[in-house]
Amino acid sequence: MSPALIAAALVLATPLVAEASEGPQSFVLPPAVAAPRDVGWPGVIRLEVDATDTARRILQVKQTLEGVKPGRLTLLYPEWLPGKHYNFGSIDKLAGLIIRGNGQTLPWTRDPVDVFAFHVEVPPGVGELKIEFQFLSPTAPNQGRVVVTPEMMNLQWGMVALYPAGYFTRRIMVEPSVKLPTGWGYGVALDTASRVGDVARFKPVSLETLVDSPMFAGRHYKQFDLDPGARLPVRLNVVADTADELEVDAKVLEKHRNLIRQADKLFGFRPFDRYDFLLAITDRLGDIGLEHHRSSENGVETGYFTSFDKAVSDRGLLPHEYTHSWNGKYRRPADLWTPNYNVPMRGSLLWVYEGQTTYWGDVLGSRSGMSSREEVLEDLALTAAAYENQVGRRWRQLEDTTLDPVIARRLPQPWRGWQRSEDYYQEGQLIWLDADTLIREKSGGKRSLDDFARTFFAGKDGDWTVSPYTFEDVVAALNAVQAYDWADFLINRVKQVAPRAPLDGLTRGGWKLVYTETPTAWNKAIEGASKSTGLTYSLGLSLNRDADVTGVLWEGPAFNAGITVSTRILAVNGIAFTTDRLKTAITEGKPGKPIDLLVKSGDHYRTVSINYTGGLRYPKLVRIEGTPDLLTRIYEARK
Ligand SMILES: [Zn+2]
Repeated sequence: MSPALIAAALVLATPLVAEASEGPQSFVLPPAVAAPRDVGWPGVIRLEVDATDTARRILQVKQTLEGVKPGRLTLLYPEWLPGKHYNFGSIDKLAGLIIRGNGQTLPWTRDPVDVFAFHVEVPPGVGELKIEFQFLSPTAPNQGRVVVTPEMMNLQWGMVALYPAGYFTRRIMVEPSVKLPTGWGYGVALDTASRVGDVARFKPVSLETLVDSPMFAGRHYKQFDLDPGARLPVRLNVVADTADELEVDAKVLEKHRNLIRQADKLFGFRPFDRYDFLLAITDRLGDIGLEHHRSSENGVETGYFTSFDKAVSDRGLLPHEYTHSWNGKYRRPADLWTPNYNVPMRGSLLWVYEGQTTYWGDVLGSRSGMSSREEVLEDLALTAAAYENQVGRRWRQLEDTTLDPVIARRLPQPWRGWQRSEDYYQEGQLIWLDADTLIREKSGGKRSLDDFARTFFAGKDGDWTVSPYTFEDVVAALNAVQAYDWADFLINRVKQVAPRAPLDGLTRGGWKLVYTETPTAWNKAIEGASKSTGLTYSLGLSLNRDADVTGVLWEGPAFNAGITVSTRILAVNGIAFTTDRLKTAITEGKPGKPIDLLVKSGDHYRTVSINYTGGLRYPKLVRIEGTPDLLTRIYEARK
């Protein structure tokens, strides 16, 4: 039986008998797990998490599941978590599962097809189950994302909750509580019912709201009000590796407050009753940037507050995640919404969800002063160059890359430019710049994508009911701002193979992409922060600090010389490798004088000669004189 047939059988979700035409084999798939229905679970789930074992990074979980009836019950562990874009659930970190009814241990079996499902037979007379298990945080990054350190914890409720199959998650009520290490503070977009000693209890919420309301807790914790006196408050909850990382300069705090003001001006309302930024300033907790409707999980490196100007990799994070409250959470692609966390999510509109959020994230970052206009433009040059030189677009549509989280699982790739990656983020950004400048041009400067934001994401202050949309809704909203063949515009760029990168927004915005011998300040800062050397547009490769190749431009000079990712460069023109030596060799390369590199790949050493004479090349945007500067207008603060 082919894998395709097995997959088809799962889609049908019916028992299936297959008989081979030859030989004796036959097999039966197990009964399908009950599909979710929009009916209320008759009891409440009491969920108690003991998070005090920070030394061993073990979360002890106890659940009381009321409302069970005798017979077969299936418990699900969340697999598809909102915002992750693929089936990311860490079922491998669940251990020690024990289920009891009336004090007796009940045997469970894991579904052999859906490993996130556990079946248990509830005996007569049992009306509630007591469930125990542990969530084992990775103790090192090679096991997965570290979520507990001695100083802080990132509790995602989807890691610590089993729930009954057959129900919409919004119809299952949960009463959560957490026992924290003594003295720890926490931020979470839930209402605390009581805090007695180290135990915080929260008011009951639906499982849907709970999973969308993670917690950051820590030994070093501080909360900042980003809009004092607001009816719909926005707060910044910060945990850090050390107490001094919590000290914030008034000017830096003001930039964060500006972000809230500029988002108000852009969207015109707040789609939440409260918003809690959860921010971890840490080199120990695993990286994160994850949006929620009324909060977001943000991990940044130490120095975020204390050297804010140098935090080049992190300054764009909060503007991006905050935008998601409107774009992605309140307005949500219809095919991305699912009734529970074990129905696959489909991301066909992620080029709106993530693409336009990347666009507004940069715009709000610049308008709020979190980043400067120069930085945003220099960053845009890097994005434009990446897509101008990306050859995978010759075979793969942008829309197909929305499936890339499932396909590639965010692992490193050997040939990223040819394979493509999750291009719906940044190529999506270029498409929305294209649309914004087109609206500005066609309306004679009267309208812009800001008008789209204000109408497409319109809603009532404080109302956070999810509003789903389709491709047709996006087209209609664009047409309401500016009449144009938007369906054709989007189909050409998103749904069809588009060999040319969507860079018209730059030229229409009064700027063009050029390559110069020296990198921009932003480019240098990004390379400094990541300890990498980018020579993609000259030699066609990038390197880490150990001179290992981390990326090779498909069909570029290094590619043509047979260099691959993880090749190490040992010597340049016969002399030991240094970054400067390689750059000098690139600058001095001329016809008849190839660049000789001694390289090592595994046990194999060889010398390759690269005939490259184009000198160093770094992307940069320059003004097209005599044209209107729309880009500056887009990125400047709104009054
Ligand atoms: Zn995002």
